[in-house]
Amino acid sequence: MSDRIIEAEAKTLNQAKALIRSQVPEGLFILSEEIVSDVGGFAEAVAETTEQALLEAEKLVPKNGEIRLKETFKPGETELTEEADDEETARIYFQGICGKSKEIISIVRKRKPRKGFWGYGRQSGVFSALVRQKTAAKIYYSVPTKIVAKIGHNIRNSFEQIELGHAKMHDIPISVVCENCHSICLALPKPIGSNEIPVMTPEVAFRAARFCPHCRIIICGRCSGISVGLLGSYVIKDERPCVYCQHDTELAAIPHILKTSARLPNQLDETLNKSRNNY
Ligand SMILES: [Zn+2]
Ligand SMILES: [Zn+2]
Repeated sequence: MSDRIIEAEAKTLNQAKALIRSQVPEGLFILSEEIVSDVGGFAEAVAETTEQALLEAEKLVPKNGEIRLKETFKPGETELTEEADDEETARIYFQGICGKSKEIISIVRKRKPRKGFWGYGRQSGVFSALVRQKTAAKIYYSVPTKIVAKIGHNIRNSFEQIELGHAKMHDIPISVVCENCHSICLALPKPIGSNEIPVMTPEVAFRAARFCPHCRIIICGRCSGISVGLLGSYVIKDERPCVYCQHDTELAAIPHILKTSARLPNQLDETLNKSRNNY
């Protein structure tokens, strides 16, 4: 089967990531994902009164936009100053700042530009604009985050296959990269039994890899919102939510890694983690 594209849209990035992961069929993996929109914008309107301006601005907010902040402006005058080589450049700059709700009354040159000799002693001019604020409103909004992901078969390279096989054969933990924050965490050789309760120090709990069966991802203890001090200075296994879907995670082991597209650390991951831990 060839690669396929899936899409998801949600209010937050993590919700969108959970939605994407819930759509991946068993046996397939996310090969790459692209965040298409995670920003909003603003809508601006001018009217007779600030109330009218607000109503007009609201009409300009996209249907899927969520309003974050509303601002109104009353008439007034201000002066803006900027360095530029000529008046035309200064005007374009001032117009950009003014948008719909302000208008330029006049522009005055405050300092003459100097060309200099062979580029030495060159100096920009200074221009100032007298600007009139109109009765206006500005509404800031955010739009849902959209993710487009490519899914397909995940072929692990021979290095990873050997590492995983080695850890499994010798029954030793293996380092794996958190799929959310990219820090290196440790996975068990085999899953713990349902009647086993691990007791860990906080440091170990942070480094212990977690597996979310819904999202089929590996995340570190930190990303699963670990809480410290549940048993004096020790942490026992309890419910740790997945950073994306909020369902409980379990302590990760090699068979879990194989269900995910989590990578084993390379030289670059090691260097990044070292510099992170030196904070
Ligand atoms: Zn993490
Ligand atoms: Zn999850």
